[in-house]
Parts: sequence; structure tokens; C-alpha cells
Amino acid sequence: MCKTYDCMGIALAVVTVLLLAFGNFCCNYFCIFYWYFESNPDNQLLYGLPLTKLGTLAFLFFNYLCLLSLIAHWRAAWCDPGSVPKTKEAPGGMEPDRVKFCNKCELNWKPERAHHCKECGKCVYKMDHHCPWVNNCVGVKNLKFFLQFVMYTAIAAAFLVLMMLVSFFQLMTSKSKSHTQKDGYVWAFILCILAFIEGILFAFFCFELLQEQFEAIEVNQTYIDDMKELFGRPLSLTDNLTMCLGHDWKWWLIPTTPCLSVNYLEKMYTLKQIKKLKDFEEEDYDADRKLFAAEFVKSRREKRIVKILFVGFTALWFFLIRYYSQEYFEGKFTLLGLWEQMTTFSKPPIA
Ligand SMILES: [Zn+2]
Ligand SMILES: [Zn+2]
Repeated sequence: MCKTYDCMGIALAVVTVLLLAFGNFCCNYFCIFYWYFESNPDNQLLYGLPLTKLGTLAFLFFNYLCLLSLIAHWRAAWCDPGSVPKTKEAPGGMEPDRVKFCNKCELNWKPERAHHCKECGKCVYKMDHHCPWVNNCVGVKNLKFFLQFVMYTAIAAAFLVLMMLVSFFQLMTSKSKSHTQKDGYVWAFILCILAFIEGILFAFFCFELLQEQFEAIEVNQTYIDDMKELFGRPLSLTDNLTMCLGHDWKWWLIPTTPCLSVNYLEKMYTLKQIKKLKDFEEEDYDADRKLFAAEFVKSRREKRIVKILFVGFTALWFFLIRYYSQEYFEGKFTLLGLWEQMTTFSKPPIA
């Protein structure tokens, strides 16, 4: 979060987390655990989780999404959005009319693609906007987390709406009216309606935002560039995505710190200039790269932790499914089954 602790921003960030928690509770408690409850262990997919197989899958899918969304929100809020290195001298060889200094940051050099954020009180490289929902600027270093937060929230919200629709449908079509006599039925119904509205609003807002963000990334723009009708150099979609999400596409969907090469000497162009640059070449603008670029490759340890967690969790999950719901895999080939056959030696019959 930014240094100037803005009360409104903190309140909105907390509200975002509370809204996520509310949606998560309603979907789990009133939909998944209500309609897919299964007490017989033989019919469960995961031992100890009293749900039908479909219910277990819905539970894992929805809760994975919420967890990823929360982690991405946390990281977007606490990550440095991309503060510009402080220097009074602009790099040599720059065209004089392109050299700018920020009069709000003690007249430090301001790269062309940096913007000063009033709320944060600093210049942020490739600033997109100051987001009150995460109480932080969205810039070059936390755009990945922000996009992940929006994407996972959008999918989770859409799933919540789907589950609520299933619930309403079940309520209307079920012949037994016993649930209407239960304590707190009216409250449950009101909470579900609220969660349903929340889901629709979140899904609509987040998918819309995601589409806008994608369109901006496609043409190497940020929201602020769009306001000023300026563009970054024209690159392929893959290159543009790499510049936002990191070099390794395998980690684009996981909230780890992206490996970015940031070039503070990047230029901005008007649409006219871009059209003139038919045979666009990168020019020799990156000559001073060593001095005015930064590489953020701090995520190796993080990746190792994620890998261990992923392998560990998957192995545990597989183990549980295999051993506690044996009939699930009956007649099917599994690697674990093969391993068992190879390692189980039949005991000699007792005479
Ligand atoms: Zn500034
Ligand atoms: Zn800001």
C-alpha cells in the first residue's frame, strides 16, 4: 500500500475483502453444502468432506478461485507498483524535448512512461491508475497481480451467480417444502438474494474491466496513456503480454513476482507517429540499457515454494481420492494403481 495511508483507500480495500468473504460464505454454506451434502463416506470424493462428488469438485473449484483472488489482491495492495529510481540527471543521448523532470518529486528525472500519482506521492513507471479497491497504484510491477485479482474475482462471481440460480431453481421445483419451516429460512433467503446481486455486479464489472485492460495491453497502452491518446512502441501480443506478466508464460496465472525487464527509456508515440512507422524498428534506444533498466528476478524461491505446494497438494489429493473412494477409479488405469501392482507381492497362503 502507498506511503500516505489514505483512510478511504484502506476502508475500500477492507470492504473488497469482506465482500469476497461474504460471497464465499453464502455460496459454500447455502448452495454447495446445502444441495450437495452427503454423509455416507462411500459416496464422497474426499474423505472427511461431506459432499457428493459433484459438490466436492464445485467446492474445490470455487474455493481455489477465491483463494487465488485473495492472494492476488493482497499482493497487488502491498507490492511496490514501480517506483522510478531517483536521479537528478537524465540519461545522456536523449532528445532534449523528451527529457522531463517531476516538479512534485524534488525535480527528479521522470521517464516518459512514468506518471506522478497524487495519492501515493511518487512517480510510478507505466502507471495505469490509482486503484482505491486495492489501495495502491497499479503500475509496471503489480499489474500482473491486479489482472489476476480481477480475473479470478470475475470467474468466482460468475460461478456464484450460477450456484445461486441452481439453488433458486431447486427451491422452486422441489416438492418437499420442509426447508421453508427451518429456523432462519427467511434470513438465508435474504442473504442469498444479496449474494446473487453482488455476484452479478462483480461479474459484470470485472469482466468489463478485464476486457478494457486486455485491449490496452494489446496496443501497449495504460489507462493514462489512453486518456492522453499516446501509445508505446508497436509490439506483438505475446511481447506485450510478456512485458506485463513476465518472461515465463507458465507463471502468468499464478500470483508470483513476475520476471520483468523494465526499460525506463521507452518512448511514447501519437497515433500519427505510429502510422508513419510502417517498418518499425526498435532503434538504438536501448543502448544504455545496463544503466537505465532494471531486471526483477526475485521470484525463484517463490516459484520453488509454489511448485512444492502444488506437487504436495496434488499428490495428497490423488492419494485421498484413490484410497477413500476406491470405486471412483474402479476399472480405470491409474499410475498409482500400476505402482501398487508392481509393489504388492501376494502373500503365500497360510497352510
Ligand atoms: Zn513525481
Ligand atoms: Zn497511487
